[in-house]
Amino acid sequence: MEEPLKQVFVPVVATPGGERTQLGVFSTEQDAWDVMRAFLSRAGSTNVVSGSIVAWEIDYVGEEGSFELAAFDRKNCPVCDELTFWIEGDEEKARCYYPRCGAWIEQNAYDPSRWDCGWPAANWNKRAEDYQHAFKGLVAMRAQSASAGMMERMPSREAWLDEKDRERRTIQQKKFDSVAEDITE
Ligand SMILES: [Zn+2]
Repeated sequence: MEEPLKQVFVPVVATPGGERTQLGVFSTEQDAWDVMRAFLSRAGSTNVVSGSIVAWEIDYVGEEGSFELAAFDRKNCPVCDELTFWIEGDEEKARCYYPRCGAWIEQNAYDPSRWDCGWPAANWNKRAEDYQHAFKGLVAMRAQSASAGMMERMPSREAWLDEKDRERRTIQQKKFDSVAEDITE
């Protein structure tokens, strides 16, 4: 017998004007995260600036039947400068969804006094004492790469969008697409 459903998980995104769009309703938190990440990876063509994953209690009477599990804010990436850098929560984690960049900041899972940041495109990682220092670490990586000519090897925005379009048709799961296409078109 399956466990009866007690909660559902709703990923929501919003524009600067506060217009909110639900991306779906899911019985597991993992599915809600997958749909949110799939959306963030192609949010470049939208004017969405924030997102959240909200848990809703089922069969709950009263006003407090929902709570926010995670929040996302969109900023320019300190490395590639695309508007594809998503900060999670109160600067708890950050990641650039520009696929050839992928810059990230994260608190170390084993040592909470330590932060890590990285730029997979250049295979670089650094450690830092807090989020702000990790962010500065990424800015420094960018400066070093610019002087080493790394940035020229990243594809143009147009090439990237073309590639994303191809990927979208072939790889992405249909249930995610049907939702995201409504929003991105
Ligand atoms: Zn980036």
